[in-house]
Amino acid sequence: MTVAPHVVVVGAGNAALSAALAAGESGARVTVLEKAPQAERGGNTFFAGGGFRFPYDGLDTIRALIPDLSEAETARIDVGSYPRAQFRADLATVSDGLMDDALADTLVREAEPTMRWLCEQGGRWVLMYGRQAHDVDGTLVFFGGLIVEAVGGGAGLSDRLFESAAAQGIDVRYGHKLIGLASVDGRVTGVRARTPDGDQTLDADAVVLAAGGFEGNTEMRTRYLGPGWDLAKVRGSRFNTGDAIRAALDLGAQPFGNWSGAHAVAWDLNAPPTGNRGVGDLYQKHSYPYGIVVNVDGERFVDEGADFRNYTYAKYGRAILQQPLRAAFQLFDQKALPLLRDEYRVRYATKAEAGTITELASMLGVDREGLQRTVAEFNEACHQGPFNPSTLDGLGTNGVTPPKSNWARPIDEPPFVGYAVTCGITFTFGGLKIDARSAQVLDTEELPIPGLYAAGELVGGLFYNNYAGGSGLMAGAVFGRIAGRSAAGR
Ligand SMILES: Cc1cc2nc3c(=O)[nH]c(=O)nc-3n(C[C@H](O)[C@H](O)[C@H](O)COP(=O)(O)OP(=O)(O)OC[C@H]3O[C@@H](n4cnc5c(N)ncnc54)[C@H](O)[C@@H]3O)c2cc1C
Repeated sequence: MTVAPHVVVVGAGNAALSAALAAGESGARVTVLEKAPQAERGGNTFFAGGGFRFPYDGLDTIRALIPDLSEAETARIDVGSYPRAQFRADLATVSDGLMDDALADTLVREAEPTMRWLCEQGGRWVLMYGRQAHDVDGTLVFFGGLIVEAVGGGAGLSDRLFESAAAQGIDVRYGHKLIGLASVDGRVTGVRARTPDGDQTLDADAVVLAAGGFEGNTEMRTRYLGPGWDLAKVRGSRFNTGDAIRAALDLGAQPFGNWSGAHAVAWDLNAPPTGNRGVGDLYQKHSYPYGIVVNVDGERFVDEGADFRNYTYAKYGRAILQQPLRAAFQLFDQKALPLLRDEYRVRYATKAEAGTITELASMLGVDREGLQRTVAEFNEACHQGPFNPSTLDGLGTNGVTPPKSNWARPIDEPPFVGYAVTCGITFTFGGLKIDARSAQVLDTEELPIPGLYAAGELVGGLFYNNYAGGSGLMAGAVFGRIAGRSAAGR
């Protein structure tokens, strides 16, 4: 009789549960170790909006994922298409060409099949009407290569994955924190864990690390990202403190990717230091392409319309962190308000509304003369032309620095509305190096470490400086599935 291999998966977010489900499906006995108590389970995945980026040819690909799309619904939408080549080009563009080719190729190739596999694991999807589509002459036109989200967002996704794990008989142990890897002659033989019953060693035929990045660790943020990052707000889980990355490095794993880089966005100025499970991602403020962004001196400092928000939001958090008091203010006039995403219509937003620009400046704590001058110069630099929020409409400014390259319309219809934001870090880009085919962790000599696999945020090499929205969950599921299969010996 053959004995099923025992796979230990560390973490219980999207990447870990994808790995656990794939390992179980491949015949392994699976144990999941999660540091958080059950009431705080789900990692960053729980906090996520739940958007997944994958290539699609058109409505047929989408129908395979959302079979209950009605005729009436499809008649009034335009999803366009998102070819594989475009996905790959986007990954290259946002990483300044630095991404690891093998990881990117695998992500692009496996993304859509993995979406279908997630359906078999209980995943359910809806179109992102509220965030990724605009009404253009009666048709809802989707944009930015990101059009599908999990039902119930990241929390819904997390619940479905835990339900599938339970249905498969996967043993999930909460309050179990990885504190080290056990090994014999370089082969990983298990993990050491701090548990409610004391420290334990669990033997395993293979270990999958999927315990997130180090964004929740103030010391590591400052050490690797640089001064000021200790003061950033953490958007999601407080449990992602780099433990598994360090355990693997201690065993000789290769540090890889953009260790000084992170995904960071505009996040409500008064949000708590780490994620609030009741609020989720609604502290984010992603509609700046339809207004202007200034600092406390009233000065603009980014091109708000450089691209769709999907391709700029993850790097603008760093730009905000570099401003005085780490604060920024997004300003809109009445004609922009209908374009704002759902996260602007929540009662816990730090917001002010006023009939004049100087009054708004006083209410927000922004320099009055500075803001008045900036708005006057900006309005002067705008010109007439067709405005279309679902395309890069080329309606740019003339003669202001920084320019606004698209969607530039004067701020001239009171009352004016302002939102105060700071830098919210989502996850860190630096991590471990894996073989793209097997998700096996590589050592500093590029050799696979026997028995050790990794997936999710703690893998480096895909994201540098910036990020294309919806790639994190997709990459976690793709490489989690591969890691689980490989760990089970398939
Ligand atoms: C507010 C917000 C919105 C987001 N929206 C999106 C989106 O719409 N689309 C998208 O693609 N991405 C989004 N992201 C990013 C996305 O959430 C992450 O890329 C993804 O969830 C990472 O999955 P993961 O499994 O690698 O890590 P996580 O989901 O963070 O899971 C890691 C798990 O490891 C556990 N852990 C940590 N240390 C240990 C240890 N020592 N021992 C045992 N367990 C440990 C943690 O408790 C956690 O449960 C968002 C993130 C945030 C915070």
